[in-house]
Amino acid sequence: MLEKAGEMMLKYFGYPSFRQGQAGVIESILNGRDILAVMPTGAGKSVCYQVPSLVFNGVTLVISPLIALMKDQVDALGTAGIPATFINSALRVSEEKRRLERAARGDYRLIYVAPERLENETFLRLAQSLDVAFLAVDEAHCVSQWGHDFRPSYRRIAQFAAGLARRPVIGAFTATATEEIKKDIVHFLALRSPTVYVSGFDRENLFFSVLRGENKKEYVLDYLQANRHQSGIIYAATRKEVDMLAQWLEANGISCTSYHAGMTEKKRTASQEAFIYDDVPVMVATNAFGMGIDKSNVRFVLHYNMPKNLESYYQEAGRAGRDGEPGECILLFGAQDVLMQKFLIEQSVYAPERRASEYRKLQTMVDYCHTPRCLRRFILQYFEGNEDLPQRCGSCGNCCDDSEETDVTVEAQKVLSCVYRLKGRFGAGMVADVLKGNANKKVRGLGFNKLSTFGLLSDYTVQEIKDLINFLATEGYLALTGGKYPVVRLGSRAAAVLRQGEQVLKKRRKKAAARDDALFESLRQLRKEIAGREGVPPYIIFADSTLRAMSELLPVNRAQLLKISGVGEVKLAKYGDEFLQLIQYYAGNRGK
Ligand code: ADP
Ligand code: ZN
Repeated sequence: MLEKAGEMMLKYFGYPSFRQGQAGVIESILNGRDILAVMPTGAGKSVCYQVPSLVFNGVTLVISPLIALMKDQVDALGTAGIPATFINSALRVSEEKRRLERAARGDYRLIYVAPERLENETFLRLAQSLDVAFLAVDEAHCVSQWGHDFRPSYRRIAQFAAGLARRPVIGAFTATATEEIKKDIVHFLALRSPTVYVSGFDRENLFFSVLRGENKKEYVLDYLQANRHQSGIIYAATRKEVDMLAQWLEANGISCTSYHAGMTEKKRTASQEAFIYDDVPVMVATNAFGMGIDKSNVRFVLHYNMPKNLESYYQEAGRAGRDGEPGECILLFGAQDVLMQKFLIEQSVYAPERRASEYRKLQTMVDYCHTPRCLRRFILQYFEGNEDLPQRCGSCGNCCDDSEETDVTVEAQKVLSCVYRLKGRFGAGMVADVLKGNANKKVRGLGFNKLSTFGLLSDYTVQEIKDLINFLATEGYLALTGGKYPVVRLGSRAAAVLRQGEQVLKKRRKKAAARDDALFESLRQLRKEIAGREGVPPYIIFADSTLRAMSELLPVNRAQLLKISGVGEVKLAKYGDEFLQLIQYYAGNRGK
C-alpha cells in the first residue's frame, strides 16, 4: 500500500521520496488506524492526508479551520490534477448547491469543510450518503481549550464521525505538541487506539539568529535592499509599529504591504493577496497575520520585536522555507520588547497561575535572545526536551558568528555616568540630548547643560547615542523601567564598568550580500505570468525549490524535467514546455 502511495505522490505531486515521518503516518492511515500526527509547520502534513485520499476508495473529508487555507489547498490540488473542492460560508448559494450536487455524484476525492459545517443539516445528509473513507482533522489543537485557537465546533467532530454510514479512519494533524493538547485531541476526537507520531521539531533549512542592540529600522532596510525580490515577512508587535515601519520602508523605496487587526477586512484581504500572489515581496504585519498562510516560498521572517514566547516565535519564524529551500529567521531584540510583553501580561485578564506561566514563557524567550550558545539546540531542547543534541548545529547565528567586535568601553562609561547623574528619572531621548550637548529649552530648564556629562558625546548623532543606549540596555548595563514612556536607569552590569573599568564590546555585523541569479529570476517571472493566467498564487504552480532545481540542473527535455522534485505528470503536461523553452533560451544565450 505504501508503494502505491509513493507512486501517487510522484505522479501527482512530483515528489520522489517521502519526507521524514510522512511514510509512517501514511502507512498507519492506509492500514485503517487512527493517527495523531504532530509535525512542525512546513514539515509536510498536507501530503499525509492528501496522498491517502488518492489510495482510498471512498472520499476524504478534511476539516480545516480557515477559509483562506481551504481555497489555497484546493487550488493546489486542482493544478496537480486532483479533483477536490471546499464548502464554506464564503460561497454563493448557487455555487454551494452545485458543489453539493457534484459531491453527491462522487466527483471529488477530497472535500474541505469548516467545522461549523458539521452542524448544517443539508451537509449532514450529504455526508451520510457518501462513502467517507477518511476524515482528516487539520489544526487539531483547535479542539483543546489549552491551545491558542480553541474552536468549539471541533468538539462536534467525534459525534459526526460516529454518525456516518461507516466510521472512517480519523487522522488528526497539528504543530502544537504539549501533553495537555495531545490528550485533549485523542479524547475529544474519540480517536481509537491511535498511532501517535511526533516528528522532530528541527527545520534544517532554517537559519536562526538573534541581533541585539541594533538600530532596527536601518537593519531592516539594509536587509531588504540586499534581498530585493525575495519574499518575506516582518513581524512587529503593534499596529502602530506596523504602520510606521511599512510607511518608512515605502518611503525608502521598498515595495511592501501590511496587515493587522485594525485594518478593514477588505484591506486585509487585498494586502494578503498581494503578498501571496508575489505582487509585493514584503509583508509587514502583527502576529494577526499568517495563520493558514501556506505560501511556501517565504525566504525570510524578521522579527522587529521579540514575541511573547518561544511557541509563538517558532510558529511565526517557521513560515519561512516551507518549500525546503533555505530560509532566514532573524530576531531583532531590544530591551523595550521585554517591557512591552510584561505590560501585555499585566493588562491581561488571566488567572494568577496562567499569568505566572506566561511570565515563565516570556523568560525563556528572553533567555533565547541572550544565549551565546547554539540557537537550534536551545529551541529543540525546549520543544523536544531532548538533552542529547549536539552542542553546535553549525548553522545558526551563534554557531557561525563571524561578526567583529569593537571596544565601546569609553562611550559606555560616558553614557552610564550621564544616566547616573540624571538619577534614573528620564527617558533615552533626554539622556541622548544631554550627551549630545543639545541645550534645548527642556535641558536648560532642568539645568542639565551644567552637568559634567553635558556634550560628552558631541561627536555622535542623537540617533547614534540612542542606539548605544539601546545596546547597553539590551546587555544589562542599563535597565529600562516603566510603561509607555520608559525611563533609563543603571543596570546590574553598570557598576563593574564604572568602577572597575570592565570592557564593553559591541558586535559589528557585516552587511548582507545580494544574491543574483538571472535564470531563477526569469523562471519566477514565467511562473508569475502563468499564475496570473490561472488565477492562483505563483507558489502553487511550482515551489521555489523546484525553480531553483530547474535553474541548476537545466533540463533539456520532458523526461529530465519530470525528474525534478515538484514536477508531477499533470503539471508537466500543463506547463512543462513553457519552462523548457525558457531554460533552453537561457542555456543558448549563456556565454554569448
Ligand atoms: P505543513 O502543513 O506541515 O505546514 P505543508 O503540507 O504545507 O506543511 O508542506 C510544506 C511544503 O513541503 C509544501 O510546499 C509541500 O508541497 C512540500 N512537501 C511536502 N512533502 C514533500 C515531499 N515528500 N517532498 C518534497 N516536498 C514536499
Ligand atoms: Zn547552532
